[in-house]
Amino acid sequence: MGSKLTSRSTDYSKWYNELVVKADLAENSAVRGCMVIKPYGYAIWEMMQKELDRMFKETGHENAYFPLFVPKSLFEAEEKNAEGFAKECAVVTHYRLKADPDNEGKLIVDPNAKLEEELVVRPTSEAIIWNTYKGWVQSYRDLPIKINQWANVVRWEMRTRLFLRTAEFLWQEGHTAHATRQEAIEESELMQQVYADFAQNFMAMPVIKGVKSESERFAGADDTYTIEALMQDGKALQAGTSHFLGQNFAKAFDVKYTSKEGKQEHVWSTSWGVSTRLMGGLIMTHSDDLGLVLPPKLAPIQVAIVPIYKTEEQLQAITEKVEEIAGQLKSKGISVKFDNRDTHKPGWKFAEYELKGVPVRIAMGARDLENGTLEIARRDTLEKQSVQQSEAVERIEQLLQDIQENLWNRALQYRDEHITSVDNFEEFKEVIENKGGFVAAHWDGTEETEDKIKEITKATIRCIPLDFKEEEGVCVFTGNPSKKRVLFAKAY
Ligand code: AMP
Repeated sequence: MGSKLTSRSTDYSKWYNELVVKADLAENSAVRGCMVIKPYGYAIWEMMQKELDRMFKETGHENAYFPLFVPKSLFEAEEKNAEGFAKECAVVTHYRLKADPDNEGKLIVDPNAKLEEELVVRPTSEAIIWNTYKGWVQSYRDLPIKINQWANVVRWEMRTRLFLRTAEFLWQEGHTAHATRQEAIEESELMQQVYADFAQNFMAMPVIKGVKSESERFAGADDTYTIEALMQDGKALQAGTSHFLGQNFAKAFDVKYTSKEGKQEHVWSTSWGVSTRLMGGLIMTHSDDLGLVLPPKLAPIQVAIVPIYKTEEQLQAITEKVEEIAGQLKSKGISVKFDNRDTHKPGWKFAEYELKGVPVRIAMGARDLENGTLEIARRDTLEKQSVQQSEAVERIEQLLQDIQENLWNRALQYRDEHITSVDNFEEFKEVIENKGGFVAAHWDGTEETEDKIKEITKATIRCIPLDFKEEEGVCVFTGNPSKKRVLFAKAY
């Protein structure tokens, strides 16, 4: 298991990288910017997938699958989208290797196997999907189409971080088609709400719902709805996005339907996605210097039980008792691991479950057997208490709920303490530099001002929050009139 983690206050970024590797979540691979997600990390991702997938289906979506490759001519069709993603595209030009005549045992690209048309490895799938929808939509009766796909995408990112920004990442992408503008806007807003609910109820991660400024908008979208979270180092994380795409893709791919009135109309569309970046958000919202802290609802192991024994007879007796309790916990849908490995000492196991963020740890020793007790430790507060075995199941069930709630409250308090309203640029710089978090400030609505503020402070507009009220004010940078505050922050 190795040495202690670097503390967050010493070097937050190093703490994060060490934690991801030591908690067995993921590691770097032989491919630049691409990670290996290890079984424990993947198990957490699967828990996220399961809940999101359920929520998508409950809101009327179905899963499907589209190709990894997008012919370049299709990719080009929606110009803004193509231009926005062009510089991050991996492109397949050949389909065969052959033995190198000048270098035995090596392979070269076969120049005779050049593709007639290059294939873009999807950075996002609007193009291939809208080219497909063209064949599916003729009349208003064919609408809406509400499809989601779970897939991998590739964006050739220059600066990568495990989970937060990788060149290949796993995600889901929803792609919907609607008869009216209003219906498509409602869909984009609904999916933003689904993401916000997931973040709150499962990740215990507070998020702010808002819309992106034009410069931060998805390429090809008319509006991007976002959920923005705040990490413990005061930097923001864009945790999920839902795009209102207007008729842009329908026009690019000529997707029309005949309305009830017999008129030909272009279809309206949305797309929305969350990625393995959520893993990074989960880690950086709750974890501490001892390791990962997982909300019970997303923990692959909710309860770890460690026996403390000297003799084989003691282990036998403990095992009997543990199996009874574990059985009752499992029947309530609680995941339990009884760690009776004799290859590791109890102290090692305790540290291991701390590092891996298991919400509840139980220890049972010889004295507990005599007294009919066991020791329960909670990961979030590190508190321990001795409990009667007869009460254990009920206590653990309650404790898991308490931990979920405590993590939410803690994160919410931190987040709320880190939204600072400022009214001049000196204060703006001071808060961004020293306190961190979100700064709520008036902005004149121009890209020029946004760029200048970014250049000076590295802070960007994270979103224009949906629940900020209109108020008269002046831009912190130019002094020009502004009707609403927006949220700035340094971001991942
Ligand atoms: P987008 O299609 O750009 O709106 O992105 C959809 C989701 O994927 C958003 O939640 C992004 O934050 C996330 N995302 C974008 N780029 C990356 C990346 N390189 N690695 C991981 N997640 C990403």
